[in-house]
Formats: sequence, structure tokens, C-alpha cells
Amino acid sequence: MKKILLTSILVLAAGLACSYQNTSQAENAGDEKAKTETSTATAPAPKVDHYTCPMHTHIREDKAGGKCPICNMDLEPVFTKSK
Ligand SMILES: [Zn+2]
Repeated sequence: MKKILLTSILVLAAGLACSYQNTSQAENAGDEKAKTETSTATAPAPKVDHYTCPMHTHIREDKAGGKCPICNMDLEPVFTKSK
């Protein structure tokens, strides 16, 4: 009788260990993602290269607040691409 109890405890413990491992792996994956997001958020702010019209990307202005001469839309900042 004692042996059966011991076996069932071992099986239960193995099951717990297995589910714990799965949980910890999932948590690790979440941490990895959180780290990536944090490093992206703390990255230096991108510099504005120029301003352009989203509809007419050949329009380039160095100053903010300009308007597209074709469609009169507000020009949007284009950031310098970092590596
Ligand atoms: Zn435009």
C-alpha cells in the first residue's frame, strides 16, 4: 500500500515538474519579448531627415509645418534610417 502511494506521488511530482517547466519557458519567452520592446523604447530618438507628403514622396522639405504643393496635405517627417 505504501509503495502505491509513493508511486502516485512520484507521478504527480513528475507531472508538476513538467507543467512548471512549460510555464517557465513561456515566461522566459515573454521576458525576451519584453526586453526587446524595452530596448526599442529606450533607443535614441530618430532624427528627422526631411519632411515629405505621404501621397507625393518626391516632395521634400527641410522644415516642419510645410504643405504639399500638389495636394496641400501637411508634410510628414521622414526619419533617418538607423542600422
Ligand atoms: Zn501631396
